[in-house]
Amino acid sequence: MEPNALIPPPRGESVPGLGVVAWDNPGDRVTYATGVLALHTPHGSKLTAVLLWPLLTSRTVCTHCGGPWPCNRATWAHEALHTQDGTR
Ligand SMILES: [Zn+2]
Repeated sequence: MEPNALIPPPRGESVPGLGVVAWDNPGDRVTYATGVLALHTPHGSKLTAVLLWPLLTSRTVCTHCGGPWPCNRATWAHEALHTQDGTR
């Protein structure tokens, strides 16, 4: 039995639009998530998005990808900015 037969699972997470990403620097994840939120916004102001996030429903669409708000990428980015631990 070789100890190195135990291979740890790959470090990374599934990011909408990017696939599985292993962030070398947690700051890169925050930077990317911030950029995603800057692009993917509900039909309305970003201020509204920040203040009313929990109240937004699928009646609103994303201005960037046109999907029901919050879209997959915005949902991921929002969660990423509230966890900031990289892989969870
Ligand atoms: Zn979107």
